Amino acid sequence: MLRTKFIFVSGGVISGIGKGIATSSIALLLKSRGFSVTTIKADPYLNLDAGTLNPIEHGEVFVLNDGMECDQDLGNYERFLDQDLNSTNYTTTGQIFESIIDKERALGYEGKTVEFFQHPPEEIISRIKQCARKNRADIVVFEVGGTVGEYQNLLFLEANRLLKLKYPRDVLHVHLTYLPIPSSIGEMKSKPAQMSIHQLATAGIIADFVLARAQVAVDEKRKEKIAVACGLSPDDIISAPDVENIYQVPLNFENQDLSDKILKKLYIKPRKRDLSDWKVMVNSALTAKKTAKIAMVGKYFSTGDFTLSDAYLSVIESIKHAAAQNDIKPKLVWIDSTQIEKEGLMILAGFDGIVVPGGFGGRAVEGIISSIQFARQNKIPYFGLCFGMQLAAVEFARNVCALKDAHTTEINSQTNHPIIHVMESQKEKVEKKELGGSMRLGSWEFKATKETKFAKAYGIVTGSERHRHRYEFNNKYREIFEKKGMQIAATTKDGKLVEALELKDHPFFIGVQFHPELKSRPLRPHPLYLAFMKAVSEQVKTEGLTNKKSLLKY
Ligand code: GLN
Repeated sequence: MLRTKFIFVSGGVISGIGKGIATSSIALLLKSRGFSVTTIKADPYLNLDAGTLNPIEHGEVFVLNDGMECDQDLGNYERFLDQDLNSTNYTTTGQIFESIIDKERALGYEGKTVEFFQHPPEEIISRIKQCARKNRADIVVFEVGGTVGEYQNLLFLEANRLLKLKYPRDVLHVHLTYLPIPSSIGEMKSKPAQMSIHQLATAGIIADFVLARAQVAVDEKRKEKIAVACGLSPDDIISAPDVENIYQVPLNFENQDLSDKILKKLYIKPRKRDLSDWKVMVNSALTAKKTAKIAMVGKYFSTGDFTLSDAYLSVIESIKHAAAQNDIKPKLVWIDSTQIEKEGLMILAGFDGIVVPGGFGGRAVEGIISSIQFARQNKIPYFGLCFGMQLAAVEFARNVCALKDAHTTEINSQTNHPIIHVMESQKEKVEKKELGGSMRLGSWEFKATKETKFAKAYGIVTGSERHRHRYEFNNKYREIFEKKGMQIAATTKDGKLVEALELKDHPFFIGVQFHPELKSRPLRPHPLYLAFMKAVSEQVKTEGLTNKKSLLKY
């Protein structure tokens, strides 16, 4: 058994340059050398978890098996490491302070003053060690949220400094920085990177490695400049150019021997490397031949593609994982349902699949419902994720079961046909304003109905999936749904809650109450996404037919 080793990862110059991907890549490379690795994301804000944050601003809320609602980077970690993580892998300043204040109230500090700059770093270190124990990790990779130079993340950097003082051979720091190429200059500039490395030094931390992010590979001349200015060897400056596919990042690092270099600095004897499956996966994603157009229909805010795609990161990744295995490069088109309400369903002509991802609230919901009707009637593969299942149920109730004002009570609490309604236990929570961490969260076991496409996709009849919602299918409507051709494809293990709906006589029309995208991994795409993409690829074959607008029902 190794002594536990700790790698801290910070970011400099600007946010959004891929610190989570860099952290995940380092973790993957060390795992590929036969070590047990785990990762932690430390978010510097005071929220206890990411569940109360707006995904349009902060990116997707990722949910772990144990129900922890966390930053989307946990999704990257799980995807790269192909490991399930737990609440010890995510921390926030809010969590740190909550523990300290609870301890103080219980006289846990035995009369001492609780100091701002002493006790939080101690609490952070104890959490890092707890995470290492819980996950039986040889190596913990700890991602410091935010950018160096902010006050907010200083407590995490201080934890790094103290840990390094205590275990000099077991701790190292990787700094991800950015080299811009201003269009007016047309040349890559290294000064901001030098400044961010210096800024890190003001927190008492000398970077052991610098990952130099830039549009293109960083040349030797600039590596040397950074090295001299910051007292590093040019060998420890790793070039990190933009790549077509994020899963190329670890391979690019490994071409520069990053894992060997890290192991050496941590005094760990290297073991054999195995990245063969990963290489095959990257290759098949890059060389996929067919393209398929998928409409992602939702009630989006007009904030541009960048934030939008961040809010649905796991859905996008899951589609890509499954597409690569079907020899497809997917083209995802974000369709705001307000546009459908204004311009009609013609926008949806020519798509090979339609997805309605998770969502909350009522704006532009009628546009989503008519898109689902369009997919159902025109036999276009449809995949509804959580809200997408609930609205598929509303559409079916209205248009097939003739329950005219059917709705979800989240949007119309007065409807005569509450197809989707809130559970009693949830009602109380909402009334008492106990809104944080109180939805149906985390992993729940399901039981599939035999002979459904759902069960066939999994190849098994029981399994578990992750949830994040308050509303549920109303059991009163099970019978009429079954009678009219919508099968209850899965329920909770006790049979009490509906977990999936599936339309008979359709190439693929499945809605799930959970979020399968939270469990898809590049090396193990999710079975439902695989089945959906298979149906999409069949559609590509008959593209000539689906594209004939005259044949489509509007
Ligand atoms: N708003 C719905 C609910 O709370 C769906 C949530 C979701 O899509 N994650 O039940």
